[in-house]
Amino acid sequence: MTQSDPVDYQRIIENVYAKVTSLEGKGQVAHYIPELQHVDATQFGVHLNTLDGSDFGVGSNQTKFSIQSISKVLLLTLAYKERGDTLWKRVGVEPSGTPFNSLVQLEHDCGIPRNPMINAGAIVICDILMSDLSDPKGEMLAFIREIAQNSKIDFNPKVIQSEKSVGYRNTALINLMRAFGNIENDIDQVLNLYFSLCSVEMTCQELSRTFLFLANDGIDPITKQRILSLSKSKRVNAIMQTCGFYDEAGEFTFRVGLPGKSGVGGGIVAVHPEHFAIAVWSPRLNKKGNSYKGMKFLELFTTQTGLSVF
Ligand code: GLU
Repeated sequence: MTQSDPVDYQRIIENVYAKVTSLEGKGQVAHYIPELQHVDATQFGVHLNTLDGSDFGVGSNQTKFSIQSISKVLLLTLAYKERGDTLWKRVGVEPSGTPFNSLVQLEHDCGIPRNPMINAGAIVICDILMSDLSDPKGEMLAFIREIAQNSKIDFNPKVIQSEKSVGYRNTALINLMRAFGNIENDIDQVLNLYFSLCSVEMTCQELSRTFLFLANDGIDPITKQRILSLSKSKRVNAIMQTCGFYDEAGEFTFRVGLPGKSGVGGGIVAVHPEHFAIAVWSPRLNKKGNSYKGMKFLELFTTQTGLSVF
């Protein structure tokens, strides 16, 4: 607890954690990526970082997990920084209301993905980075490490291979977009970059620290380094709010009321602008692919504290 932010976060997160832990272990670990099935499904961690540098954690908050689609926000941050608003010629900003790997809208929308938070959108952004950067994989990892202020953040090669071995839908998505002229580079290389991005691992503590800049108008509040302009940071948060939870973005906004992003590894990160970033991890997913306990935790947390953006 600090003077500038007199909320007793440690007590609150421990209290909510105890309530959610006692719930039945509903949902299933993502099974369509073989490597993700090996995780201990009972793990549950939470970590919260405030803008003044305090942090609070409980449970498996220091265990690494596959952040999967959460890294799409970091990819968008890098590309938006590089390309500015020209990005929006290649990818939209509308919620999809469909699963993360759906092909349905892509045909109708002539190969332009609805938003950067679904697979098709992130694949297009990988293609853009391939065109712009000399070492896209290395530069992307360096950028993530810089935002995280942690040189140990890395890809997991086993997860990359595992995703490649079952990447039928992502291969279909990229081929369809290529047919519409929205992919410029070699398909295997773009997919390799995309799978590498999805394989990034972090702990809840590392994840909430990494997202602090989005709670602080684009500036890392600890290092004071500007990562995104005020306007771009606002827009990345807006995209997380409207598109961050597959076809459950409305439900997350309704129940939790914070901009956030989930991944099929069971992680969720959310930010409360001017206050904090919070990461929750529990591998069992609900039917829409979002962490069952993660959603529950954040719903109770924002309800109990009144700390939502609405
Ligand atoms: N690597 C996963 C895929 O491409 C990401 C899914 C997710 O976390 O939404 O299917």
